[in-house]
Amino acid sequence: MTEKKPKSKPGAVLITAFGVVQGVGFRPFIFRLAQKFGCRGWVKNIGYGVQIHLEPGKKTGLRLFLRALREEKPPLAMIEEVKVRPASFRGYKDFRIRKSKEGESFVFISPDISTCPNCRQEIMDRRERRFHYPFTNCTDCGPRYTIVRSLPYDRAKTTMSWFRMCDACRSEYENPLDRRYHAQPIACPACGPSITLKEARTGKKIRGGISEAVSFIKKGKILAVKGLGGFHLVCDPHNEKALRRLRRVKQRDRKPLALMARDLATIRKFAHIGVAQRRELLSASRPIVLLRKKRDIPGIAPYLDEIGFMLPYTPLHHLLLEDLDLIVATSSNKKDAPIAKDEKEGVDKLCDYILTHNRPIQTRADDSVLKVEAGRTLFLRRARGFVPYPQRVPPDLETPQHILALGGELKDTISVYKNGYVVTSQFLGDLDEYENYRYFEETISHLQQLFDVRPEVIVSDLHPNFHTTRYGQESGLPHLQVQHHFAHVLAVLLEHQVPWGKKVLGVSWDGYGYGEDGSAWGGEFLLADYLSFTRVAHFKQVPLPGGDLAAKQPWRMALAYLRDSFGRSLPKIKALERIDKKKRNLVLKMMEAGLNAPLSSSCGRLFDAVSFLTGLAPSEVEFEAEAPMRLEAASPEKIRGSYGFALLDNDIPWRVSFTQTIEEITRDIKNGISAPLISAKFHNTLARAVASVAKKAKIQFGINTIALVGGVFLNRRLLSSATAFLGREGFEVLRPLKYSPNDESIS
Ligand code: ZN
Ligand code: ZN
Ligand code: FE
Repeated sequence: MTEKKPKSKPGAVLITAFGVVQGVGFRPFIFRLAQKFGCRGWVKNIGYGVQIHLEPGKKTGLRLFLRALREEKPPLAMIEEVKVRPASFRGYKDFRIRKSKEGESFVFISPDISTCPNCRQEIMDRRERRFHYPFTNCTDCGPRYTIVRSLPYDRAKTTMSWFRMCDACRSEYENPLDRRYHAQPIACPACGPSITLKEARTGKKIRGGISEAVSFIKKGKILAVKGLGGFHLVCDPHNEKALRRLRRVKQRDRKPLALMARDLATIRKFAHIGVAQRRELLSASRPIVLLRKKRDIPGIAPYLDEIGFMLPYTPLHHLLLEDLDLIVATSSNKKDAPIAKDEKEGVDKLCDYILTHNRPIQTRADDSVLKVEAGRTLFLRRARGFVPYPQRVPPDLETPQHILALGGELKDTISVYKNGYVVTSQFLGDLDEYENYRYFEETISHLQQLFDVRPEVIVSDLHPNFHTTRYGQESGLPHLQVQHHFAHVLAVLLEHQVPWGKKVLGVSWDGYGYGEDGSAWGGEFLLADYLSFTRVAHFKQVPLPGGDLAAKQPWRMALAYLRDSFGRSLPKIKALERIDKKKRNLVLKMMEAGLNAPLSSSCGRLFDAVSFLTGLAPSEVEFEAEAPMRLEAASPEKIRGSYGFALLDNDIPWRVSFTQTIEEITRDIKNGISAPLISAKFHNTLARAVASVAKKAKIQFGINTIALVGGVFLNRRLLSSATAFLGREGFEVLRPLKYSPNDESIS
């Protein structure tokens, strides 16, 4: 390359594109664009993006180049911002991709991306050298986050470093015009990873590979299949015996299982797919999407009206499903342990056969799970396919510090902050389980090392006994604690880039969070900005008889709410007759005496009570939110009625009392009103409670923006009614779109 002395000839510009642009074929894309437009100059990586020195050609101007840059960018590139400024004209003779220097700034990396249409076609074509090859990928697709050990993203720093590229792969890798140019995990049957099928009990290898695995599934066997972020347990969903065995090894009787279908047509046989659901199912992230049931498959999602489907996202899945329509594909963890990434983590105890391969998984990642509400995503679990997309922090909030944020305890994630961006980890699970806690530690050290974060401050939940809090205290670093429901609201402010200083009313509803006064919070209305909050209202407190047991046995909450409404003369309710009378009396006495019955303003527990009273909830739940989910599933959309409730107190915090709600629900039950109708009226009642507190807060504090957040707002029935009521009153409503409203957002 020859460089002349700078001339004052106009036209040269320096373009900086910020975002996830490394390891996604962005530089070769720019190279091709420059060739197309006859431009000269160079492109190079600069940590948080790329820089392009462009000297426009005769054919086209800068404007067209910039438009193409945005509109034709590679599918995996995520451009946050493009800045253009004049540069001195140097008269380059050609356009080159320059080598990048390792720098100080935040280097982003793409999440794992599902097999692209080109690769898919290639593996199904007999004439191709990658015909039926399960590890085919290119610059547009394949593993990223789950195989990378350190950055900048380069093959030697991934778990593909074990494999030596063959000549054919190398020539593709080195050709800027090839779609595998610098595709770090590039592989083929001659040089890349390979699969092995084993008998689980003996570890003996079995000939036959994928076709043999398929025949085992058809025969009703359970297989552990190694994917991108861990092992799936796989079986035939129509084989009752296999399904029963799978549930037994997973120790889950009722928790919904995810399905992987060959194509959309297969899914349509069992569930309804709207436009937005279709978009999510087919997106490059390939999450599990919850869909309304059309034809039930017994044992997959009992008592619920939705069922989770995903489409194949690796070549291995495409090949498995070439000859099968539908499989159960649930994560291979034992109860309360993280997803297994290695056969040595006990998957042999859970299955009959193991379909594995020799490309190591560096980082575990579960499948992401989402549903769609009003055409937009609502995350139940954010992991594979979305992590580690960065989140920009509003400029006013920027601090020079590196921060490590640890979150709460249940459904935990961690986040790292550096130079204006936050990266939030994949879902890690309940940290009170030893193996999940190890996963938490593993993730902290991996993310710190990966993004070169050296925290100066550690942040955790306010709860004094959470593992995250103890980790912070023992770190020896300055340690900040943030109230749980405030953290929920902050996550929404950040995601929506709410301006500095603006106040919102955060409706922060969940099962439990440690309150500033030490009591159990959960139905909270917080007037908040980035710096602080005021608790302007909360649910009227009721006792949690038995403490933690109250969250597991909804009948306890039913008794607590009945006692709150009726005092000592409790009405007879059919659902309660299922519970032994002695047990009931004991619980009532506990509350009477105030023994092991701490007060709580939880919203989740109110749902538990109503779900149990209407006969929908089991007397003991198997997983978090099971009782509320059944109540939501029962509710029809278009019922208008509601129950009475009251806003108590003149001074803040106002209390929202549902005493009358429970009285009226009891009357409805006695009058034989159906559970679905009661459920609908109950949902409307809560939505009206949101609107009436919002109106009062508007008068008193002048706020006009409401954030709906916390695990309760995974309830679409409530979310849509509350949004509609607030919209009618002229409020702006914010809710989480890219992160889950549940405790994954605390960090
Ligand atoms: Zn591809
Ligand atoms: Zn090769
Ligand atoms: Fe929460």
